[in-house]
Amino acid sequence: VTDIIFDDGSRYQPTKIIGVGLNYADHIDEMNSIKPSEPVLFIKPSTALCNFTDPIILPDNMGPVHYELELAVCIERTCKNVTRDQAAENIAGFGMALDLTLREIQAKAKASGRPWAVAKGFDNSCPVSIFFKKSLSQMDQTEILFTLNNQEKQKTTTSLMLFKIDELIAYISGIFTLLPGDIILTGTPAGVGPLQSGDKIEGHIKGLISAKTTVL
Ligand code: ZN
Repeated sequence: VTDIIFDDGSRYQPTKIIGVGLNYADHIDEMNSIKPSEPVLFIKPSTALCNFTDPIILPDNMGPVHYELELAVCIERTCKNVTRDQAAENIAGFGMALDLTLREIQAKAKASGRPWAVAKGFDNSCPVSIFFKKSLSQMDQTEILFTLNNQEKQKTTTSLMLFKIDELIAYISGIFTLLPGDIILTGTPAGVGPLQSGDKIEGHIKGLISAKTTVL
């Protein structure tokens, strides 16, 4: 478990991490899913948080763990029912996250109509980078790139999100009161796949951060 740490030294302890599923069209296609009419949400517990640069710990005997590189938003202040226009002023900044996913367990849950809590919420399933005090307008059309053993696997731009960041904050805050430090994972583009012991991975979000780690 880790705090959310900003480049200026400020720290937050999130009460929840809200994931957004199916937010890029190419990832919806690769998952053989249908474009949702409203954001698909799930929650990871704060115990999912760990540092991006620490070696990734794969859980034992739970099937394949897929990487999903995502732009993460950190909430600045308590907010509820904010409008799209008010969204930007409630953002503390941005970081880079992996939304690690137990893909077979998720597939079984989907097939049987059961929740994704195990597939998405296990310990260390949310490695996060250091965060930066960037504004929404600096991050809403920037490039995301993920490489696995020096091969490009995921590449997109945040402008291709189906539900934009302001729209997500408006929607989510209409359901859950957002508290300082809460994290929104904004979804992953196509190219997800399994991690193996010994893999070397790198994530890049242009204008924000590049970071690398390995899989234990
Ligand atoms: Zn995801």
